Amino acid sequence: MPDEKPSNESWKHEPPYKIQPAGEFGHVYWRGRCQCGRVEYWLNMEKPLDAKFCHCRGCQVLHGAPFQWAAIFQKSAMTFRTSFDSLNFYNSAEKLRQHKPPCKVSCAHCHSPIMDEGRNTVLLFPEAIDFGHGAGQGKGHEREVRERRGLFAPSCHIFYSQRVIDIDDGKPKWSGMNDESERI
Ligand SMILES: [Zn+2]
Ligand SMILES: [Zn+2]
Repeated sequence: MPDEKPSNESWKHEPPYKIQPAGEFGHVYWRGRCQCGRVEYWLNMEKPLDAKFCHCRGCQVLHGAPFQWAAIFQKSAMTFRTSFDSLNFYNSAEKLRQHKPPCKVSCAHCHSPIMDEGRNTVLLFPEAIDFGHGAGQGKGHEREVRERRGLFAPSCHIFYSQRVIDIDDGKPKWSGMNDESERI
């Protein structure tokens, strides 16, 4: 009875974990890859729904970074090219190592952070995306990379009250979640 799968395993057969043939997925605008290369994903949308910098303490500790850059996509816009076996899952609210959204997803081998998975969307970390770095040289090439990366530019900063560094970019700064907290 191949169709009778436990319902708590159904996520393995849905986007973004369901491995889709290239022709079915549509145009691939971007490819993302972890540091060791065992995890790769594709995106069929040119731009995220939104992107943010998060300065919360949780992101600082989990990412070992002053803040986190997240780009939001519908799950259907993403497909992994590698099995879910190559991924680690971590639910930070319950401190559980299991696939229980919202959870963090990373490479099981090199531990590069890949994304935060929500119910309908993913908040992926665009550092993994190949915007053309290193493919050419010179000022023109640098500008092209910057323009491509600019499609993922954050619209605002959240949890800015917990920041470790001031960022003078003229973008909205929220003390907590955007639209639900004080503007700083
Ligand atoms: Zn890896
Ligand atoms: Zn955060």
